[in-house]
Amino acid sequence: MKLQENADLTSYNTLRVPARAAKLVRLRSEKKLKELIKSGFFESDTLPLGDGSNLLFVKKNIGSAIKNEILGSEIVKETKETVLIKVSSGQNWHELVLFATKNNWSGLENMAYIPGTVGGAAVGNIAAYGQNQEDVFESLTAIDLKTGKLEKFLKSDCRFSYRESIFKRELKDKYFVTTVTYLLSKTPQYDVSYHSRYESLADELAKVATPPYSIHDIARAVTALRQYKLPDWNTVGTAGSFFKNPLVGKRQLKKLLNAIPELQYYPAEKLSYLPPDEMGNDSFQLKVPAGRLLEELGWKDKKIGNVGTFERHALVIINYGGTGREIYEFSEMMREDVKKNFGIDLEYEVRII
Ligand SMILES: Cc1cc2nc3c(=O)[nH]c(=O)nc-3n(C[C@H](O)[C@H](O)[C@H](O)COP(=O)(O)OP(=O)(O)OC[C@H]3O[C@@H](n4cnc5c(N)ncnc54)[C@H](O)[C@@H]3O)c2cc1C
Repeated sequence: MKLQENADLTSYNTLRVPARAAKLVRLRSEKKLKELIKSGFFESDTLPLGDGSNLLFVKKNIGSAIKNEILGSEIVKETKETVLIKVSSGQNWHELVLFATKNNWSGLENMAYIPGTVGGAAVGNIAAYGQNQEDVFESLTAIDLKTGKLEKFLKSDCRFSYRESIFKRELKDKYFVTTVTYLLSKTPQYDVSYHSRYESLADELAKVATPPYSIHDIARAVTALRQYKLPDWNTVGTAGSFFKNPLVGKRQLKKLLNAIPELQYYPAEKLSYLPPDEMGNDSFQLKVPAGRLLEELGWKDKKIGNVGTFERHALVIINYGGTGREIYEFSEMMREDVKKNFGIDLEYEVRII
């Protein structure tokens, strides 16, 4: 464990926002965390910190933060069909995906090349190309930051929903997730049906590999698509998609289609965009791409002062050396524009601190 006081957090968040933590603990073991809690080390609210790829620090100073550096993984159970793998929460998510796909275990391949830790992935219930973290999630362990007690949470306890879990809501900053257990399949099965107007996973797969495809080929195809459509968070200040894709009713969708005839939409639970005759009844809720709404209003490749949006994606904010406050004000301008023009309240996907 390493402790720093008045620590600079610029390199601990992918937006590269300057903020400071009164105390920053770089944590390498579960045991150490229990000891620190029991000794009363954390006086104020404590922020569990993964790779900071889903955060915006608006405050210049926060209390304590625990940077997760707990590493390791173990196979808990293996059968002919499945592998149950328990992973320490500080492990890099993409490395876990590569480990699984190289072993031909399926369940994570469409979520390749998402930044962040395994703990952050569970807390944010990440998803991509039609695959969701919660689909392979079995359980997690987390330490109560008040008592130091280790507890197990089953899937139903975590209350996963679209980019949400109980640890982002009711239990925010109350528990530190230490391990996550996933159930992966050893029978190669994959789904590359995801497509949008702009990209097709099946087409990309055909470009990067030849049949019969392996699980690892899927991860390679996803990585290639993502490397093209998203900025490199190692060199550019970004937190990926800033807002969630909004859900709208059919009536509202019709209004949106008047403004943007080619706007795509899909049922909340489904992977791909649907043709109009498969949209279901009037009460049906449909998801529309927030990025396309923003693009229509001129927010793609836009720059104001030190903040802008990515040249290929209006939902992705880029920090050109601004403060957290500047980024927040920029994002609020985007939100207000969407509200004024389309009557939709965009919800933040990124956590604002
Ligand atoms: C370029 C780019 C592309 C992205 N693409 C996607 C995508 O396709 N799909 C997607 O779903 N997300 C995407 N994201 C968002 C982000 O990568 C994920 O949300 C990621 O899982 C966050 O992990 P992290 O370790 O960085 O978490 P952090 O940003 O450090 O933390 C996020 C939240 O989780 C909490 N947290 C983190 N670790 C713990 C822990 N151990 N215990 C308790 N709470 C914890 C934090 O307190 C915070 O509330 C993208 C981000 C970027 C920059």
